[in-house]
Amino acid sequence: MNARFKNMVKLLQKLPGVGPRQAARFILALLEKDHSELRELGQAISNLKNEVRLCGECFNVSEDESCDICSDSKRDKAKLLVLEKVTDLDSIEKTGLYKGLYHVLGGAINPLDGMTPERLRFKELERRLLSLTERHRNIELIIATNPNTAGETTALYLKELFKDTLGVELTRLGRGLASGSNLEYADEITLRNALEYRK
Ligand SMILES: [Zn+2]
Repeated sequence: MNARFKNMVKLLQKLPGVGPRQAARFILALLEKDHSELRELGQAISNLKNEVRLCGECFNVSEDESCDICSDSKRDKAKLLVLEKVTDLDSIEKTGLYKGLYHVLGGAINPLDGMTPERLRFKELERRLLSLTERHRNIELIIATNPNTAGETTALYLKELFKDTLGVELTRLGRGLASGSNLEYADEITLRNALEYRK
């Protein structure tokens, strides 16, 4: 195999969920594109860090220091929905049902994968809750981690962390989400039910 091709396979494999076969397929597909398209993609990748960043409050992707959701005065600031990834946030946002704020943890606790609580944004969440409770009497903290092992571990950790925090009520996304599933891929009706029947 061509050394540059091999190197490109290695680079693409750094992305989540991409194995050697998938990486090779991507490269072959890219070879079919013309120069201008490849240049556009290359430029978008090299400018990514300058043009897209994470919101300083909720860690959603954003163009500015504060994302569209955090800077929207119409959002309910007494509701904070905690989830694993920005893609989960997108799925919930698409339902149009949730009008509160978010907090993206950056993953779920999974010691086997090296994902310890220190690597996730719990400290930031604690700080944020503190400042929210100063302005609002009761904050609903909605736990929306995935219904799989890592997500459940994270949910338990969150419950332990905030069970005695004054002015914070903990709830969990409700029925409909099959255990072992992933929020990101849940259909809209399932998410709608899970949001409406939180417990
Ligand atoms: Zn934000």
